[in-house]
Amino acid sequence: MNIIVVGGAGFLGSHLCDALVRKGDRVLCIDNLITGNKENVVHLVKSRNFIFIEEDIITCEVEKKLLFTPDIVFHLASPASPKDYVKFPIETLLVNSIGTKKCLDLCLKTGAKFLFTSTSEVYGDPLTSPQKEDYWGNVNPIGPRSMYDEAKRFGEAITMAYHKKYGIKTYLPRIFNTYGPRMRLDDGRVIPNFISQAIKGEPLTVYGDGKQTRSFCYVDDLIRGLLMLVESNYHMPVNLGNPEEFTILELAEKIRNITRTNIQIEFLPPLPDDPRKRKPDIELAKNLLGWEPTINLDDGLTKTLSYYTGKTS
Ligand code: UDP
Repeated sequence: MNIIVVGGAGFLGSHLCDALVRKGDRVLCIDNLITGNKENVVHLVKSRNFIFIEEDIITCEVEKKLLFTPDIVFHLASPASPKDYVKFPIETLLVNSIGTKKCLDLCLKTGAKFLFTSTSEVYGDPLTSPQKEDYWGNVNPIGPRSMYDEAKRFGEAITMAYHKKYGIKTYLPRIFNTYGPRMRLDDGRVIPNFISQAIKGEPLTVYGDGKQTRSFCYVDDLIRGLLMLVESNYHMPVNLGNPEEFTILELAEKIRNITRTNIQIEFLPPLPDDPRKRKPDIELAKNLLGWEPTINLDDGLTKTLSYYTGKTS
């Protein structure tokens, strides 16, 4: 198949490009490298089935660059860590709004399917747990995370509008916290932060009391879920994530065990509007796609740590 991956040089995007090239698809990867890194796809550039274009999807004249008619457009181009989207608020709002419209118009012209990577952040600081797809969320529209949360909510809305108005085949995975090799160690998220702190022997920084929870999905499981979703005929949102829930303190303990260190925990002030709980209900993905994660947190953290300490590539 012919695939466009917008944001293909980022953490998730590059793993998606790997999986697509591996199964024999032709991939056009577009990324402006605002938070992505060419290093993530440099090994693919050798393949004649992979083309990389360094451009912003908003200004890119995609149709002029197309060597093929796309079958699917995957839109993963967005800063995704709180540190990054706070640094790039306008870019985050625009790539998920104008960038999404651009992708949808391309799909309308070419007949391609469209997958928009939504997020658990559409649930905000949820008042119910676990979160099911029919929960509408508890989001502060002008809060410190609003540039991401509201941009992703708009992205869902415009994707659904094109689906309803024009019948485009669209997909709305809501991706929960995902981790693995190629996350930037300085991207500010909790797993890369803890890993880089542990490697340097520095204290693990826990924001607030550390009793807030997250559920962490290993990247390979997540990519498998995205590929299964685009094979389906389901156009409503689908949660993809690992339902095993941990407090941030439990995560810190796991990092200490895996790195066999006894580094201290340093408690820092809580972040404003930091969701207290996050845990996906994945019954829909299980029933619809037969998908569920297979890699538990200990194994995933061990693989991730090996990548950063250079024990595997
Ligand atoms: N967190 C932390 N220490 C860090 C980084 C993050 O305690 O060094 C906490 C953060 O406050 C949040 C959770 O870990 O409650 C997950 O944060 P992350 O930035 O990874 O992603 P989020 O799920 O908030 O988008």
